[in-house]
Amino acid sequence: MFVDQAKIRIKAGNGGDGAVSFHREKYVAAGGPDGGDGGQGGNVVFVVDDGMSSLIDFRYKRKYVAENGENGGAKRCTGKSAEDLVIKVPRGTVVRDAETGRIMADMSDDEPHILAHGGRGGKGNQHFATSTRQIPRFAKPGFPGEGFEVSLELKLLADVGLVGFPNVGKSTLISVVSAAKPKIANYHFTTLTPVLGVVKLDAERSFVMADIPGLIEGASEGVGLGHEFLRHVERCRLIVHVLDVSGVEGRDPIEDFEKINLELQNFSEQLSECPQIVAANKSDMATQEQIERLREYIEGKGLQFFTISAATTMGTKELMDAVGEKLSTLPPVKVFEAQPISQEEWIAKVSDRKTFEIEIEDGVYYVDAVWLEPILRTVNMEDYSSLQYFQRVLRSSGIIDKLEEMGIEEGDTVNIYGFEFDFVK
Ligand code: GDP
Ligand code: MG
Repeated sequence: MFVDQAKIRIKAGNGGDGAVSFHREKYVAAGGPDGGDGGQGGNVVFVVDDGMSSLIDFRYKRKYVAENGENGGAKRCTGKSAEDLVIKVPRGTVVRDAETGRIMADMSDDEPHILAHGGRGGKGNQHFATSTRQIPRFAKPGFPGEGFEVSLELKLLADVGLVGFPNVGKSTLISVVSAAKPKIANYHFTTLTPVLGVVKLDAERSFVMADIPGLIEGASEGVGLGHEFLRHVERCRLIVHVLDVSGVEGRDPIEDFEKINLELQNFSEQLSECPQIVAANKSDMATQEQIERLREYIEGKGLQFFTISAATTMGTKELMDAVGEKLSTLPPVKVFEAQPISQEEWIAKVSDRKTFEIEIEDGVYYVDAVWLEPILRTVNMEDYSSLQYFQRVLRSSGIIDKLEEMGIEEGDTVNIYGFEFDFVK
């Protein structure tokens, strides 16, 4: 089975926690703090693997979790950072945030793409000694690693897409002009997997052509095959529209031509605007009249028209030369613009579900809000702007209002998951 869509969960590793530790030496009463920092959590990185041609692997494994960083140790030992988790995908895979549909990466280059950042390690207590606080008994926990549900969609990278009704001879054509060896048979839907073939025009010039499973009526509405495969022509620079000019199956090639174009248009406006060259195939079985009638119609639309017979290779060389010629005038294969999700955005996203509970115990206000936890981890209490940000989060989420409603006074203690601070109006 050809799989070109999948949904998986990715989760980067958490940073290791900072350590609380004090220098110990024989005969030295009390040493300074020497707790080391936590290590960095592993990233989730995507890379292209040209040995892969479908997303089938992701049907079986759907969860990908990178390792956490190690905790810091005594004697200023920094915890070991975790290795990145590398996920290999076929070239042309578009990665989206499943929740919003936003494109996070278009895997069509050879660059590694970090799609989930590992959390930074927390600082050990060695950093928190000051002149007034010589025995810092606290350290910072590691930052959480980012996690997403992502959808993967394979959109092949080909210069030219062959489209047409089933059985018009698309697979035969690609098999005679390239080294690709798709299945050829005299019944519909033999091509269930898109096949890529490299067409070599001469020593310097070549292009990639994709044989896409036959389109049928209603394909763009998701009826039957076709629709699923249209995404593979989305990036193409040029469409070669293959028609059966002999009408051997009892259909009119002009009607076929219009129906397929309607399918392309219904799928996307952009696809319908992709330049086309028309190949009238099976001319060996057609009458001169049939050929001329079709030629007149197609050329009347201002399109280039080629009479070919894929079975006998008649006219296929001329067609490929014309395709190469046309390609040299067209923009390169379309790469989708990606907007990776930044760490700030991820935090904002996680904190979107702002429900909370507050309880008072011995005069302390305990705030319970799961979504606040990762934010709390990223807040640097020594840093003014970071604290301001934290204040804003507390205010915008309604926690401050609620605290006031419960009668909190200036100087009362607020506790959020162990982190305590004085309430200031
Ligand atoms: P596809 O479904 O569009 O990929 O069509 P195929 O390439 O599988 O061809 C369908 C049938 O048409 C096969 O039996 C081919 O042998 C036949 N065929 C393809 N091209 C030609 C041609 O130029 N002339 C004739 N007579 N038959 C052809
Ligand atoms: Mg085929």
